[in-house]
Amino acid sequence: MHQPAIPHLAQTDPQLAELVEAEARRQFEKIRLIPSENYVSSAVLEATGTVLTNKYSEGYPGKRYYEGQQLIDPIESLAVERAKALFGVDHANVQPYSGSPANLAIYLAFLQPGDTVMGMALPMGGHLTHGWSVSATGKWFRSVQYGVRKEDGRVDFDEVRDLARRERPKLIFCGGTAIPRTVEFDKFAEIAREVDAILVADIAHIAGLIAGGAHPSPVGYADVISTTTHKTLRGPRGAMLMSTAEYASALDKAVFPGLQGGPHNHTTAAIAVALREAATEEFRGYAHQVVANAKALAEALLERGYDLVTGGTDNHLILVDLTSKGIGGKPAAKALDRAGIELNYNTVPFDPRKPFDPSGIRLGTPAITTRGLREEQMPQVAAWMDAAIEAAQRGDEAALDRIAGEVRELLSAYPMPGWAPTP
Ligand SMILES: *Cc1c(COP(=O)(O)O)cnc(C)c1O
Repeated sequence: MHQPAIPHLAQTDPQLAELVEAEARRQFEKIRLIPSENYVSSAVLEATGTVLTNKYSEGYPGKRYYEGQQLIDPIESLAVERAKALFGVDHANVQPYSGSPANLAIYLAFLQPGDTVMGMALPMGGHLTHGWSVSATGKWFRSVQYGVRKEDGRVDFDEVRDLARRERPKLIFCGGTAIPRTVEFDKFAEIAREVDAILVADIAHIAGLIAGGAHPSPVGYADVISTTTHKTLRGPRGAMLMSTAEYASALDKAVFPGLQGGPHNHTTAAIAVALREAATEEFRGYAHQVVANAKALAEALLERGYDLVTGGTDNHLILVDLTSKGIGGKPAAKALDRAGIELNYNTVPFDPRKPFDPSGIRLGTPAITTRGLREEQMPQVAAWMDAAIEAAQRGDEAALDRIAGEVRELLSAYPMPGWAPTP
């Protein structure tokens, strides 16, 4: 049953309520390895379901365009102050609707159309919004893209420096969506300073690890920090922009009125709750456990002969190149999903295959760590993955269903916030 219960939804819209219940059960029964996903706490869930969704509040605390902000102002200020304290930054804006609009606001704050931006190419691990060609950021700006070395899958800082010297970007993005190693903010900062560019650290994936002390912080290196709030940070779907005092007003103006209208106050409240949770000792334990689990899972996959991009992981994320196993990422991901193990197919650096049918799979440990799985369970997860991939190659659907049953059985002992089996 969904928790908090959804009796009014069931009354008003039984069709939708049934879908929500089924999705909650699906989340309960699957090993969720998509590295950008998590399980939020019941407190975060409750905050997103409050009457704060009823209120319009264009502007910022103390400077609104609508009346009735007596309580919205302190709620937003709470989120802002908690973000500043948790990450140790001068300024935080908690209004961006999600990570992509947050990044777009950075372009709006500092660039004119046609100006040069530098980011990691999407197939190398970067994000669409770091200037990839199909994104508005690649269409409306002049984008130059760096990658990783073919030999070891790591960023080649000589290449980044050469490119920056030659192309003189106004903005440099570091961070991404498929980077299994520590982002070296200090090295990016050195290059950005040399070419007089603004350095943006996009920590969407690793914000929770940074908050919990399990990844170095970009503070002191990056001029602007962009993050989603719903990945390792374990908050509601949303985003934040943080910066030194120097860039505060440019960023605020870009978010509103530059790009957005009214902030989503129920989300702001849930962000405040998540930030409070992220400041606890328990969260530090979670962040370190996410990394310990990822390392244990990587080790177990290596033992089974899987090729990992960069040979392993420093963080929450593992990128597997399935070429040597003779199966594409997409059929593997589909078979794994049927076997109760949810992840996504993904390009690997220098992938000879197409993005819609690439060579790799991407997985991570934030959600299973929140669920309570530990290093001891990782060899079993790797064994199920391996068995499912072999079953896929034989076309053995019964084996996939058998694995899904075993996965369900294991997970029944690990509660999730938001849903529990009816006793
Ligand atoms: C997830 C992500 C984003 C975008 O976030 P959305 O909320 O999906 O728009 C931006 N940058 C990076 C590095 C991400 O991982």
